[in-house]
Amino acid sequence: MAEVLIDLNGVHRIYGDFEALKGVSLEVERGQIFGYLGPNGSGKTTTIKLILGLISPSSGKVHILGEDPYPDDDKAMDTRRHIGSMLEFNGLYENLTGLQNLVFWAELYGMNGQKAHEQAKILMDAVNLWEWNDVPVVKYSYGMHKRLALARALVSDPDILVLDEPTAGVDPESRYLIRNMMKDLADQGKTIFFSSHDLEEVQKVCSHIALLKKGKLISKGTLKDVISHFGRSRLFVRLKSPAYADLWAQEIRHIGRDIKVEGPLVSFYPENDFDTSRLSEKSILDTWKVDSSLEEVYLNLVADKNVNEKVET
Ligand code: ADP
Ligand code: MG
Repeated sequence: MAEVLIDLNGVHRIYGDFEALKGVSLEVERGQIFGYLGPNGSGKTTTIKLILGLISPSSGKVHILGEDPYPDDDKAMDTRRHIGSMLEFNGLYENLTGLQNLVFWAELYGMNGQKAHEQAKILMDAVNLWEWNDVPVVKYSYGMHKRLALARALVSDPDILVLDEPTAGVDPESRYLIRNMMKDLADQGKTIFFSSHDLEEVQKVCSHIALLKKGKLISKGTLKDVISHFGRSRLFVRLKSPAYADLWAQEIRHIGRDIKVEGPLVSFYPENDFDTSRLSEKSILDTWKVDSSLEEVYLNLVADKNVNEKVET
């Protein structure tokens, strides 16, 4: 059976009289890249802080590697050591060089001077900052800060990486590097949980996703399942000539939505009572389906006023 590394069960989190999370349950298994999506204020950072043991749930359970990460004791501290994280606050010292920052953190994790230095150099290379080893972090660009923060998250060689919007606002080169590193790290068996606003990125790197809206999950599962469950496929039909296409489009107008005709090509969303035998008519050359993008699914769900009916239990 797959090993569950991150397990949230019915988690609520209240700030004062505001309920930021309203019963979130999710499981992340070893080796998954799990994308956590939701509009601003939906509760992504709150969830991440709970996973990191920085705050405790108001009710419900958070388990990391089977343990509660929150308590101020040795066991929870051990659990937290298995997680590398990157939040908005990067834990970087601006007046130290990039290399010094990583050595500092490596020593904090118990490595001796020589070993810490080696590990720091390897990580500076990995995030493509080796030319900046000896430059104070204050001179780094925003994207370089983020790359160094990712290196810092990896210093202790954690099983789990938790990243809060790792590529938000960074330059294309840094975004590309961070994205590829996430994929490589997952290939090496690390488990990655990250929040993002970049739907294209999530579609490129994630195996699993969850969509959060106002503190509730509105969907979760493999990327493919979420898209096929909430997305709709557009059907493309190529006819033998544009004249057939016009005729055909006319005939299906009651069983197809959003019909578009371009030359001999007709595309539409089929209604439920669409008769598929129509696709074998003689005037048709070929047909194919195109699934929704994650962006379409997300926009549909987030904008959907009846979405509460779809909330998973
Ligand atoms: P996201 O990361 O998805 O933008 P957050 O988890 O940061 O969302 O915030 C969720 C909601 O909880 C927001 O409405 C935010 O204003 C509120 N919130 C977050 N942290 C606090 C806090 N420390 N005190 C009061 N309200 C908070
Ligand atoms: Mg946030």
